[in-house]
Amino acid sequence: MKDKEQILVHTCCASCSSYVLPHLKENFDVKAFFYNPNIYPEKEYILRLEETKSLCDHLGVSLLIGPYNSYAWTKAISSYKNLPEKSKRCWECYSLRLDNTAKKASDLGIGLFTTTLSVSPHKIYNRIEEEGIRAAKRFSLTFHSEDFKKKNGFKISVRRSKQLGLIRQNYCGCVLSLKESEKKRGKFF
Ligand code: SF4
Repeated sequence: MKDKEQILVHTCCASCSSYVLPHLKENFDVKAFFYNPNIYPEKEYILRLEETKSLCDHLGVSLLIGPYNSYAWTKAISSYKNLPEKSKRCWECYSLRLDNTAKKASDLGIGLFTTTLSVSPHKIYNRIEEEGIRAAKRFSLTFHSEDFKKKNGFKISVRRSKQLGLIRQNYCGCVLSLKESEKKRGKFF
């Protein structure tokens, strides 16, 4: 039987990965890569990382962990920090994480990569795809372009998260999204 092609999957959290990783495992030899220097505060970063480790153990997927270099995120979005979610601020955030995933794939000799980000209805698929293709070109790789929220991907991730007792976050991840979420819920800073 022909070996499955290897793919490196940028994972943003266990909840989104609970659908994407098993789905990709059907056709690929999957390795996960947790690189999310956007997450604030650090205790939230640790929580999301630990949940992702448990999920990957449960699924039998090997997990690589990138650095928690939050300064890289601050630098990447600094010109756009006054813009709201779903703006250039987020495109830069996608770009940072996809660039580093492509670099990791290249270092590992894996020709294909993707991200769990598109499973969320709050993420703009076309922008993720654009940044993925750009990062792929930079490292001479291929970006696996798939909108994981389609075919009920998001709904399945919600159901599996409940079954596995995973936390569904009430903000995207960065300090700005935390403030925006608190504001919406009436907790003003
Ligand atoms: S809202 Fe989410 S995607 Fe946008 S900058 Fe913050 S962490 Fe990144």
